[in-house]
Amino acid sequence: MQNRIHYIEKDINYDHEARSEMARKNISGVPAFFIGEDIVVGLDKEKILKLVDHRVVECQVCHTKVRVPINKANIIAKCPKCKSKIEINHR
Ligand SMILES: [Zn+2]
Repeated sequence: MQNRIHYIEKDINYDHEARSEMARKNISGVPAFFIGEDIVVGLDKEKILKLVDHRVVECQVCHTKVRVPINKANIIAKCPKCKSKIEINHR
């Protein structure tokens, strides 16, 4: 991909661990992309880039994992669970 995404390629024909991970997650199609806790099956570039544009942060109050976009310098997100504010400052 030309968007400078760092990724690890695993060949399930040779990588038994990757194959069993896919089986565990009920994925039958290839290619499958694991982005954080999300999985995109098939080369859905738009979807992949959207996920890559985000970062998972943890709510400091209830420790819920919240996905926030990283395309802005300062982000204030709201925890979906406890509604507390999550502030992220990028450099
Ligand atoms: Zn919370």
